[in-house]
Amino acid sequence: MNAFSRRGACPALSKPMQTGDGLLVRLNPVAGGLAPKSLIGLGESALRHGNGIMEVTARGSLQIRGLTPESARLLAGEVDALGIAVRTGVPIETGPLAGLDPQEVADPRPLAESVRAAVDQAGLAQRLGPKVSVVVDGGGQLAMDAVTADVRLIAVRTGADVLWAVSVAGDNQSAIPLTAVDEDAARDIAVAALRMVAEKGREAHARDLSERQLASLASWHSVTPPSVLPDISPTRGEIALSSPLSPITTVALPPVEPIEVRGPAPELPISPLVGEMSGRTEGGAKERFPLTHSARSPVGVFDLATAGVALGIGLPFGSMPAEKLIDLIRQALALGTTEIRLAPGRALLFLGMPLSACPWLQNSATTLGFVTTPADPRTRIAACPGTPACASGQIVTRDIAETVASETADILDASLTLHISGCAKGCAHPGKAALTLVGDENGAGLVVDATAKALPAGYRPGYDAARGVSGVAAAIRKERLRGETAAACLARLGAAGIAEAYRQE
Ligand code: SF4
Repeated sequence: MNAFSRRGACPALSKPMQTGDGLLVRLNPVAGGLAPKSLIGLGESALRHGNGIMEVTARGSLQIRGLTPESARLLAGEVDALGIAVRTGVPIETGPLAGLDPQEVADPRPLAESVRAAVDQAGLAQRLGPKVSVVVDGGGQLAMDAVTADVRLIAVRTGADVLWAVSVAGDNQSAIPLTAVDEDAARDIAVAALRMVAEKGREAHARDLSERQLASLASWHSVTPPSVLPDISPTRGEIALSSPLSPITTVALPPVEPIEVRGPAPELPISPLVGEMSGRTEGGAKERFPLTHSARSPVGVFDLATAGVALGIGLPFGSMPAEKLIDLIRQALALGTTEIRLAPGRALLFLGMPLSACPWLQNSATTLGFVTTPADPRTRIAACPGTPACASGQIVTRDIAETVASETADILDASLTLHISGCAKGCAHPGKAALTLVGDENGAGLVVDATAKALPAGYRPGYDAARGVSGVAAAIRKERLRGETAAACLARLGAAGIAEAYRQE
C-alpha cells in the first residue's frame, strides 16, 4: 500500500494538483485544529519535500507546494505518521471557532456531522466534483460570511428557537436564500440539493440548479422531504441564479447579526475572498469582488469565555517560510498554546494561551513578519508566490507587494484593489482588480480595471515595478478631490493617465 492509499489521506494528498511550481497539496485536519507539535512536523515536512513555503488559503486550508510526485508521496506518508487525520469527501465546513465561541447562535458541529454522514450514506462524494462544498455556520465572532459554498446552512435565532437558514450558490451576500428550517430539515435539504448537483455531473455546482429545482428545495416542509427533481428547465437563460431576488425565494434570510468589533475593523478589499494561489479558486464558485464586504478579520484576540481566548495571526499574502512558522509555533507552545486552528482569511488561531501571553506572541509574530493587526496594508494586496517560489513567475511578487504596502499604504483605501501576479494566470485573484501588476516576458505590466489575463496598459522592468506603483500613488495624491476614494480618482484619471504615471515615475 503506498502512502496515498492509506486511511486518512485526503484527495488533495492523494491527488496533488499541478501548478506553475510543481505539485500542490491542500489539507484540512478533520479535528478542525492541530496540535502545535503536529504543525511543526508539517512545517518540517514542507521544508524537506516542498519549496519550504507554508500557505493558509482564503478558506482556511493548509497548502504545501513545490512538490514532485515522489516528494508528494513522502509528504503524504509523513502526514499519516504525524497522526493528522485529514478531511476527505465533500467539504462540510464550519467556522474556525465552532463550538468554542460564546457568541455563536448554535454549535454547528452536530449538524455538520449529520450532513457529512448523510452525504456518505448517499454515496455523493464520488459523484460530486471536488470543489462542491457546504458551509454550516453557527454565527459568532468569526462567521463564515465570506466563504462561498454550494449549500449554506446558517444558524438564526427565532425567539427561543434556533433555525437554520438554507441558501445556495454563493457567500453570505450572494447566495440564493431558500428557507429557514429545523436541523433535520436543513440536513435533508442540503443532501437533496447535493443530489441534484450530482445528477448534473462532476463539473456541476449549485449555481447550475434550475429554478424548478430550487423551488422544490425551498418548499420543503416537515412531512414531505424535498423531491430530487430532474432539471427540466429548457434553457439556462431561464435560470436567474445570480439574482438574490429570485422569484423562487420563499423565506428571506434574516439580517446578519452585527459583529462585535474590538477596535476598528477595516474593509478588507481583497484578502478574505480572493481566489487561492493554486491556479484555481478553492471551493469552485467564482469569487465575487468583495468591495463592500465587512467580514470580521480573523486577526486579533477573541474572547471565548470559559474556553479562554483565541489569538489570530495572519500570514502575509497567505504564506510564510516554514522556518518562520515553526519558530512562531515553538514560541506559542512555550506560552501555553494547546491547539492551532486554520481560519478563513489566511490566518491561524492560537488556543490555550492565557490572555496575558497574547502580547508576547503578537510581538514575536510582528518581528517575524506575520500580520498582527487587521489594519496591516498587506491584507489589502493580493499577491501570488511569483518568482522564485513559482516556476511560472516572471516577477518577484512578494517583494514588490511588501514594498508597495510599506510605501503607498495611504492610497490602499477600502475602494482600491491591487493584485500582483507573477504571470497572467492570476492565481491570487482571478477576478478584476482596479490595478494589476502582471509579470510577462516584457517585464511588469500594469493592467487597469481588468484581470491578470488582460492586455497591460504599460510596462516597467520587473525589478522596478514598485516604483511604478509609487508613481500611480503620487498621481492619486495629486489629483484626488476632497472626499474622493482612490478608486474613483483612478477612474477619473483613466487607463491612459494611470499607465503614464506608472511608466514615468
Ligand atoms: S499566477 Fe503566480 S502562482 Fe500562479 S502560476 Fe503564475 S506565477 Fe505561479
